[in-house]
Amino acid sequence: MALLQISEPGQSPDPHQRRVAVGIDLGTTHSLVAAVRNGVAECLPDDQGRHLLPSAVRYLSSSSGGAGRVIGFDALAAQVQDPANTLVSIKRLMGRQRADVVQVDQLPYTVLDRPGMATVQTVAGEKTPVEVSAEILATLRFRAEDTFDDELFGAVITVPAYFDDAQRQATKDAAQLAGINVLRLINEPTAAAIAYGLDNASEGTYAVYDLGGGTFDISILKLSQGVFEVVATGGDSALGGDDYDRALLQWVMAQQGRAAWLDTASPTDRAALQQAAKRVKERLSDVKDDSESVAENVILSSGEACFDINKRDFAQATQPLTARTLTAVRKALRDAKLGKDVIQGVVLVGGSTRMPVVREAVAEFFGQTPLTNLNPDEVVALGAAIQANQLAGNNPDGDLLLLDVIPLSLGIETMGGLVERIVPRNSTIPTALAQDFTTYKDGQTALALHVVQGERDLVADCRSLARFELRGIPPMAAGAARIRVTFTIDADGLLSVAAKEQGTGIEARIDVKPSYGLSDEQIATMLQESFTTAQADMQARALVEARVDADRMVEATLSALKADGDLLGEQERADMEALMAALRHTASTSTDAAEVEAATQVLAKGTESFAAMRMNRGIARALSGKHIETM
Ligand code: ADP
Ligand code: MG
Repeated sequence: MALLQISEPGQSPDPHQRRVAVGIDLGTTHSLVAAVRNGVAECLPDDQGRHLLPSAVRYLSSSSGGAGRVIGFDALAAQVQDPANTLVSIKRLMGRQRADVVQVDQLPYTVLDRPGMATVQTVAGEKTPVEVSAEILATLRFRAEDTFDDELFGAVITVPAYFDDAQRQATKDAAQLAGINVLRLINEPTAAAIAYGLDNASEGTYAVYDLGGGTFDISILKLSQGVFEVVATGGDSALGGDDYDRALLQWVMAQQGRAAWLDTASPTDRAALQQAAKRVKERLSDVKDDSESVAENVILSSGEACFDINKRDFAQATQPLTARTLTAVRKALRDAKLGKDVIQGVVLVGGSTRMPVVREAVAEFFGQTPLTNLNPDEVVALGAAIQANQLAGNNPDGDLLLLDVIPLSLGIETMGGLVERIVPRNSTIPTALAQDFTTYKDGQTALALHVVQGERDLVADCRSLARFELRGIPPMAAGAARIRVTFTIDADGLLSVAAKEQGTGIEARIDVKPSYGLSDEQIATMLQESFTTAQADMQARALVEARVDADRMVEATLSALKADGDLLGEQERADMEALMAALRHTASTSTDAAEVEAATQVLAKGTESFAAMRMNRGIARALSGKHIETM
């Protein structure tokens, strides 16, 4: 008989065969991986005990041999000597074209304009942001697999709430390249709220204030019946800890009368100064007394620079930056039509919220002490880990239901350049919505489908996402075909559109991976425009609809004339031609919907007797050759 195996205490494999599922915060500055162990979410350290992995990849020339790249702290350490090949802040390029990246010229490496997505020039060749992110993700995957000595089942990866389809898809692509099964992408603020257990808290509205290295994000979340909804997002994609470093550096240089010198410093010296500024800034966060200062000397190619700054001066030098974050908070609240008094809790996220100046400003603004007991740079990864644990089925008791919303409406173009909205903005995802459409002309055998995103009524004012065609529709009279268009948005916010002709079952579909992303400013502008132009849009829509009706009337008359024109006398026919010409003229020149409708009515009236004659002929044909008795 085989012996039963017993393992060492604490080493026993879980009786339920736990699957290794982790949460990954793929950050602009730092990335982290976390997992739930023994019921508690915790960040996984590297072999030197460090939790944070700098989101930095340095590429080496192929002649240097070896793996050709260095990731994390080692990459960052080389930034001073090799800024052009040390890629940092790559998240800002994910799913974006070069022109869409804010302050792209300030990045220390060369960003190239490529169709689809910007890329980066390195000594090891051109790299896409997806490839660079995959290096970071793979490093975290190996860390998790080493920790658990098991293969990774899957990961929940976090993305900013404002990330659009292209940016989310790029993140998924990077994960796939790193060999990671993505259980789900979730929004960073939602993850932070989960880490604080707010999903178990009382229903209400919460603010998540996230000040990272290069970005500021404010999100307003609403929790009702255990479901989180993002009700508003805002922020500044070019404002973060780096700007505090820069402000500190400028202050120190001005103090020494060397302000101008900063512009002429070599890239290496500048990188050294920036890193020193960051260290001094971070040390200042622990300083208690206002007049206490932090000092550091930096060796440069041209001599030495001395940093010496006290807490009060730092607060003053960076006050405008903190004020800018609060302006964005006010705007987000305004967008959500909420007063700050309804905010039930404020979550601080991001390493930069360690700065006392920031904490104090946020506390004062909201009139309440923000939640800070979790590490602000870990909280997103911790929330993602909790979510991953549940999605992997490790926590069957968990009943967390996560809902995210789509930021802009999705629809398709209909006749006359109008938008028919199929998925309204703020719909919770995942979702699938369908609507039936029909053909416009007699005998039409193909349908051009144009998928658009935006809040405006006219296609020209929305953003084009994709075009595709449904072919092979059997020829039918206009309006007889039934084509069902279905929009499906998965849990990660990715869209696929299908069109199916109901009679024959022929189908066409497209997965929408827009070739470039929208910046958050663009989303904000698009929303803003839709609010201020609603009235004008309604009039424009009415006019376009009236014109489409007019065209349809003319089309129908023409096809009737073609079929049964012989029923008419010359004069009657000429009258009808004149009515059609008049309607065409009004429809193309008038900007008044009512006028166009009236002209359409005139043609409708003018063709009434012709329609009656056609009906009689139709009946006569149907009856011909039949006896009354057989009917
Ligand atoms: P991201 O989300 O952009 O990856 P993080 O949340 O990791 O960024 O935040 C990185 C920023 O936090 C950096 O600018 C860093 O200098 C800053 N930071 C980290 N610790 C401190 C500290 N103790 N005091 C002030 N700033 C800090
Ligand atoms: Mg972050």
